Amino acid sequence: MSRVLVIGCGGVANVAIRKCCQADDVFTELCIASRTKSKCDALAEALKGKTKTVVTTAQVDADKVDELVNLINSYKPDLVMNIALPYQDLTIMDACLICGVNYMDTANYEPEDTDDPEWRKIYEKRCEEKGFSAYFDYSWQWAYKEKFEQAGLTALLGCGFDPGVTQAYCAYAKKHEFDTIDTIDILDCNGGDHGYAFATNFNPEVNLREVSAPGSYIENGKWVEIPAMSIKREYDFDSVGMKDMYLLHHEELESLAVNIPEVKRIRFFMTFGQSYLTHMKCLENVGMLSTTPINFEGHEIVPIKFLKALLPDPASLGPRTHGKTNIGCIFTGKKDGQDKTYYIYNVCDHQECYKEVESQAISYTTGVPAMCGAMMLLTGKWTEKGVHTVEEFDPDPFIEALDKYGLPKRESHAPVLVE
Ligand code: NDP
Repeated sequence: MSRVLVIGCGGVANVAIRKCCQADDVFTELCIASRTKSKCDALAEALKGKTKTVVTTAQVDADKVDELVNLINSYKPDLVMNIALPYQDLTIMDACLICGVNYMDTANYEPEDTDDPEWRKIYEKRCEEKGFSAYFDYSWQWAYKEKFEQAGLTALLGCGFDPGVTQAYCAYAKKHEFDTIDTIDILDCNGGDHGYAFATNFNPEVNLREVSAPGSYIENGKWVEIPAMSIKREYDFDSVGMKDMYLLHHEELESLAVNIPEVKRIRFFMTFGQSYLTHMKCLENVGMLSTTPINFEGHEIVPIKFLKALLPDPASLGPRTHGKTNIGCIFTGKKDGQDKTYYIYNVCDHQECYKEVESQAISYTTGVPAMCGAMMLLTGKWTEKGVHTVEEFDPDPFIEALDKYGLPKRESHAPVLVE
């Protein structure tokens, strides 16, 4: 028996909600609340007759703490699942604290307005102190640790695939395969083809900000930053084949460096096709990825938001995307004094996802872990109070749930390593 409030009703939320409704013995009541209520109503309508979960809908502007507080106090959920955008993380955490409710999300905080002088002052100091320049980092949400602890509440951060499952894989490797881990390479491969020359697989604004930023990795406890897309490797992925992949900055590197402190090097690679990279570079060169508003014929527009309006909606890619994703982690380290290597990953088929939940595999591989993470909190498998990332919890019940709900793990004890 549980009551869950989901905020956001985009690509990822659609999958997470459909999966919650498959586990209707755990998710007995669910309210879908978002900025555009018609999207919530359409999903609730589509779910009618297919689940025992009692689904209701609401309108909310999650940038406004008072609106959130009113909604949470009237619905009285056991858990708020934030599947809106990273911009809303702090307002939703504030509202959860005020109302005494557990919180979870799928991406760490990033401000919508990166020109805000107050935010920039803190950001520039962090760039200098830590040595990476991504707009997102955990400091904003880690600052809530004590408040959540004192309130006896849990905030689970970044429970999608990457971040999310990748950290559970790290915890799993540490628990079952290694005494000490020396290196971690996280490999995110999308072998899917949607037939468009250029489209993003999840929210275009968040996606393009992430991949156009400088890359970085952790070596001997320090960040090493490199120009965007300047480290390229080839890898032969199980069920996908040979792909070019590029080193990116990614949020789980930051928490893994804290929670698995013996690791000497942590890197994150993502595959991109040449067409995607050429389009992105061109859009960047002409200023279309800028978040700074410009005046156009008397209207103020933000170039990246205008671009988002022109690009295909990621939720519409489902029927046309064919191929598979392969996401996982390769480890080197020691067990019983011996060197060893280990690879744990998942392969997911875009068309299979579409048949099941009317979505492509990127939203699927994010939405299923969000549901499984919520299940861990609601069924008392993960009870630690405070603010935590996935690798801080027992990975076994979570990975078991992923196996059951559509993202089974695969393993190799003799993987090809990344140079
Ligand atoms: P979408 O853009 O498809 O959906 C975002 C949803 O949030 C929309 O329903 C939108 O409403 C709603 N929303 C936006 N602003 C507000 C607001 N102020 N108040 C209420 N609702 C709001 O994004 P995705 O589904 O692709 O991504 C969702 C999240 O998942 C993002 O944080 C993304 O970074 C994260 N993600 C995580 C991954 C992982 O592996 N960990 C991978 C992929 C994504 P409206 O319909 O009105 O626009």
